[in-house]
Amino acid sequence: MKKANGHEIIQLFESFSPKQYAMDGDPIGLQVGKLNQPVTKVLVALDVLEEVVDEAIENNVQLIIAHHPPIFRPLKKITTDTPSGRLIEKLIKHDIAVYAAHTNLDVATGGVNDLLASALQLENVDILVPTFEQKLKKLAVYVPIESENDVRSALGKVGAGAIGQYSHCSFTSEGTGRFLPGENTNPFIGEVGKLEATKEVKIETIFPDYLEKKVLSAMIKAHPYEEVAYDIYPLENKGPSLGLGRIGVLPESMTLEQFAQHVKTTLDVKTVRVVGNLNDIIKKVAVLGGDGNKYYQHAKFKGADVYVTGDVYYHTAHDMMNAGLNVVDPGHNVEKVMKNGVAQMLTKMCEEKGFEVSFIASDIHTDPFTFL
Ligand SMILES: [Zn+2]
Repeated sequence: MKKANGHEIIQLFESFSPKQYAMDGDPIGLQVGKLNQPVTKVLVALDVLEEVVDEAIENNVQLIIAHHPPIFRPLKKITTDTPSGRLIEKLIKHDIAVYAAHTNLDVATGGVNDLLASALQLENVDILVPTFEQKLKKLAVYVPIESENDVRSALGKVGAGAIGQYSHCSFTSEGTGRFLPGENTNPFIGEVGKLEATKEVKIETIFPDYLEKKVLSAMIKAHPYEEVAYDIYPLENKGPSLGLGRIGVLPESMTLEQFAQHVKTTLDVKTVRVVGNLNDIIKKVAVLGGDGNKYYQHAKFKGADVYVTGDVYYHTAHDMMNAGLNVVDPGHNVEKVMKNGVAQMLTKMCEEKGFEVSFIASDIHTDPFTFL
């Protein structure tokens, strides 16, 4: 086991929830403190309230990964006799960093919306509101024949060559590589000062641009040459779409009333607000964590029998009702599903890396509402 610092943990986290996925203007990323220090314990939280900071202090946590950025609007001052100032003061005094992953975690595959869809037991899940199209790049690398398998498998292992449900896709062609090793070189093949011609293969593969660093470092590590010849091209091909919310089907149809009960049980809430006829049959379900008011037409357009989202406004509820869309509002706090989801995923990723770091899901209930 090896020690990790904050940067290494966030690098792993961003390999599944990259910053590029966030909506414009969303204040994500490191908000308080620093990442260049050793981290042995991380707290995963939905909201950073003062009680959550106290929980982090009690548990000797060095880093909080939160879904809702505690600094959402620019701060004009930090006065420590106000709740928000005190929160920042406490974090800095205890050297606790806060990193926020908001809409990028909503969009990420395996993020908030996928966790909600899977909690609701949805099948054949698709994106509800496309917001991001992955940019693709192509790598062509020239490899001596005896190392082609090593390089190909290293590329496939870090995710290059993923096309739809296929992985490790590549194309290999044979040719002759020519080079003249300079005075201070230590060539794998050939001699200093002598023009060399050797059988090489060209391996071509495709990857999403956010994987570039990972792909290059895996490729160079697996390649035997001290100077690797490779090209990277931007592509015009459309990459897979990602986005907010999910739409899928229930394994068994049920009435809207039964579905509302299903939401309460599976998302662990005591009450839900429902718009629509309780006897309607529900099979196709759209879900969007947080405040999904402005996206309800996507649910309607895609033929959802019900739309599950939080913070529904009175007048928007009328609009939804008039559009004939059933709605179940379990509140914004159901996004708490991310606490265990992210903690479990990062635990697994860090175990694979051999990092000595533990992740805990915050135990603090941060829903501001009490239902009587
Ligand atoms: Zn939210």
